[in-house]
Amino acid sequence: MATLPTAVRCSRGSRGTTLPLCRACRSRSEHLYHVVQQCPQTHGGRILRHDAVTKQIAGALSSSGWDVERERLYHMPSDQGKKPDIVAVKPDQSCIILDVQVVNGSLDMEQTWRAKIRKYDTNDLWQVVSAPINIRVMAATLSWRGVWCGKSAMELRKLGISVCVLRDITTRVLLDSFELVVVL
Ligand SMILES: [Zn+2]
Repeated sequence: MATLPTAVRCSRGSRGTTLPLCRACRSRSEHLYHVVQQCPQTHGGRILRHDAVTKQIAGALSSSGWDVERERLYHMPSDQGKKPDIVAVKPDQSCIILDVQVVNGSLDMEQTWRAKIRKYDTNDLWQVVSAPINIRVMAATLSWRGVWCGKSAMELRKLGISVCVLRDITTRVLLDSFELVVVL
């Protein structure tokens, strides 16, 4: 990733004090982080990357005996409703509400992971999901360079998702992040 040809990198040695603007949006310097995580031009690609991770996790949960539903909108009286990426239940009445996030790894990933969990950790959502007893809210959190938030990976492992699947997701995120740079 460190050798990808963004404008900032390509101009190294020839630039003055001003960094080159992103060739797509012209609003920010064309840092790798901007291209992969911020630029409006790559927004669609980020959604595809997110959906690919969701699909991999949903598949792994299904294989582990979970009954999985993806992106269903739950209407609630308190707001416009919530649409978690995954709601999964097991015959023993346990239920998971899970969201996927591909984040900026330079921030404290555990903090980002906790914030995502808080978003769905609400009584009114639990009521409309109406899966009874053991509801757990979780987040699958990894950086755009494919590094997993340790706690998130640990919890996914406890659900029956293998290390192999977590590695596959890392690979997918890396490839998709690379693709975002290439298509700019
Ligand atoms: Zn841009």
